[in-house]
Amino acid sequence: MQTLGEFEIIERFFTRASEDRDVLVGIGDDAAVLDAQGPLAVTVDTLTAGIHFPENFTPHALGHRALAVNLSDIAAMGGEPRWCTLALTLPEVAEDWLTELARGFFELADQHGVTLVGGNLSRGPLSVSVQLLATLAGDRFVTRAGGRAGDDLYVTGTLGDAAAGLALLESGEAQSDPARALVERFMYPTPRIAAGRALASFATAAIDVSDGLAADVGHLLGRSGRGAVIDIEAIPVSEALCTECPPAVALEHALAGGDDYELCFAAERDDADAVAGAFRDAALRVTRIGRLTGDGAVVWRRNGVAVDVTGGYRHF
Ligand code: ADP
Ligand code: MG
Repeated sequence: MQTLGEFEIIERFFTRASEDRDVLVGIGDDAAVLDAQGPLAVTVDTLTAGIHFPENFTPHALGHRALAVNLSDIAAMGGEPRWCTLALTLPEVAEDWLTELARGFFELADQHGVTLVGGNLSRGPLSVSVQLLATLAGDRFVTRAGGRAGDDLYVTGTLGDAAAGLALLESGEAQSDPARALVERFMYPTPRIAAGRALASFATAAIDVSDGLAADVGHLLGRSGRGAVIDIEAIPVSEALCTECPPAVALEHALAGGDDYELCFAAERDDADAVAGAFRDAALRVTRIGRLTGDGAVVWRRNGVAVDVTGGYRHF
């Protein structure tokens, strides 16, 4: 790379002292060596310019987002995030840009106790990949596959904000406070790690909502061959979304928009109190939106009447 050499970049922007004693070998060798002492959840996600984020995205938000999307996958498994690697493909070396990317990345890593243990650096069209490894408390984890007929279906937080935020970001029309709040939700997703860990003791199945509720409910139930009846009017939407968008657009964002990184999960009916209890202290809302059924069909209802819902983001 131009001004700074590859190893100077790694040293200057990505190498930090670590107090994690389970990192036996960190950045600087051919591979990291970790002491995991049990099962690991492993996930990787790539963010490519123009596909996963607009070209005018800030490097600080990109650093945050690259880790956040992986943290969200780990949240859905009920894991405790521990270590990550970072593969960067850069068209050029700009020091201010790298400083901001690293700042966004490490701020979120520090919040969740994640140590960067290695990575890769190469030249090319801008993309950022993070691989994240997580331990599992009591060896317990939640998959997509476990839901049973009769289970309640829930979502955390509110849906549709990020999709509305992206539209506002692209149009450059985010002037009001609620509009800025929506843009913030797109740029800085909050992975629901604490909620995921709380859920690990009773959720029967879980997924993070990254492609939009309609698509992700399909992914969740597809793994178990279950279906669901979902009440559209129960889907939680924020005040900001309702202020900025007409009801039909808000609903479209909530159902088909991606990037919210909330959790959608199933729990037995008898565990309704446990679900409420798990969220009572957290400043995070949890909403029951429907119930699982034994067949493979997902029925979306509005005022009790079945409606057609299609949507969700697909790359291919
Ligand atoms: P190798 O060629 O043996 O794969 P590299 O020369 O690519 O190793 O990288 C040297 C060291 O720096 C390795 O330990 C690698 O994990 C680490 N590294 C490379 N890029 C990054 C990065 N973006 N962030 C953190 N560590 C990195
Ligand atoms: Mg090597």
